[in-house]
Amino acid sequence: MKPITEAYKDFPILNKTHNGNRVIYLDSGATAQIPQVVVDRLVEHMTQHNGNPHRGSHVLAVEASEAYENARDRVVEFINAREREEVIFTRNSTESMNLVAHCYGVNNVQEGDKILITVAEHHANLVTWQYVANKTGATLEYMYLDETGHLKDGEINKIDEHTKIVAFAHVSNVLGMEFPVKELIEKAHSVGAIVVLDGAQSTPHMKIDVQALDCDFFVFSGHKMCASQGIGVLYGKRALLEAMPPFLLGGDMIEYVKEQTTTFNELPYKFEAGTPNADGAVTLHAAIDYLESFGMEQIESYEEKLVAYILPKMLEIPHVRVLGSTNPKEKHGVIAFTVEDVHPHDVATIMDSKGICIRSGHHCAQPLGAFYNVAASSRLSMYLYTRKEDLDAFLDVLKTVRSVMGYKD
Ligand code: PMP
Repeated sequence: MKPITEAYKDFPILNKTHNGNRVIYLDSGATAQIPQVVVDRLVEHMTQHNGNPHRGSHVLAVEASEAYENARDRVVEFINAREREEVIFTRNSTESMNLVAHCYGVNNVQEGDKILITVAEHHANLVTWQYVANKTGATLEYMYLDETGHLKDGEINKIDEHTKIVAFAHVSNVLGMEFPVKELIEKAHSVGAIVVLDGAQSTPHMKIDVQALDCDFFVFSGHKMCASQGIGVLYGKRALLEAMPPFLLGGDMIEYVKEQTTTFNELPYKFEAGTPNADGAVTLHAAIDYLESFGMEQIESYEEKLVAYILPKMLEIPHVRVLGSTNPKEKHGVIAFTVEDVHPHDVATIMDSKGICIRSGHHCAQPLGAFYNVAASSRLSMYLYTRKEDLDAFLDVLKTVRSVMGYKD
């Protein structure tokens, strides 16, 4: 197997040039790039096995069903779920979160109850709970952070006997940091609350074991881990999923339909209405095979080394401020930053003029920006195909940003 430092060779898009510059992709937190092996598996599926899963007894419907269900089994193994009934395919983390909000949240909280999230949540894990709170009369409360991105002392004690749902990002898409997951989950369970863990930014970068985590729901997106866009996963503990009503209604999620009544299919199909994204599931299967050919532990430690390389160098550049912790050990491949008096969109545009792709904006976490008084920031995020020379190119441009904007120092 090739060393991880050569993983970039597997990604055809990284050979692209833009305005005469090699494209340097530092926006993997938004979406990851796709290795050729994943594309090949999709082409094979589309040219050899395409049919409508679970519909029909002809060879192509059967092969498509197999491919789709094999992908589910691969996900079960990848996140160490207890059983395949607990793994539901969705479009993305957002849809998974909406499923939990609509089917669990709305039916299990009421006035006087509390839903608790952190102020760093992605809108997918925030607007959803605002909806549930508005719909049910429950309150939505926040755990706040200190300047370094850690939960403030005592915030965890907001988890009390009124708390029914605790939802938070496993890794923040802005701060790149992990919350004290174990402690939060234990505390939530001690008061009888359930935990919804947003794994959108953790699953691509570290070994996930939902049984060891003991979260009640876990969501992630295929497109952030080298699969195609439009495939996501909701993991949920079986007893919770069994007790929930279906989300979307239609084909495949039913058992018997009469003119006026319907009974529903068993798990996981109860939550998968309509023709599924089998193509996406096939790419997710292939992406997991690809990532595991390196090993999730190796991917995590490789990214840790990259962060340890670049973060101190960024901090040496005058007027650059990194959001949250500046301890490289606490950042999982995501670094959000500002350059004093330069709008983040200008930083991103200057980077883009050199072929460097970074993100700028509020990163779908506006309450976090308001809390830190930083309406927008720039963000670089890396993956297993990121090279030191990519980071050097980024640093070279970062050093020039203020002078390009006309500042003398
Ligand atoms: N949560 C976090 C922490 C994220 O970073 C993202 C994607 N930026 C999401 C949820 C939503 O993911 P998706 O757009 O794939 O649904």
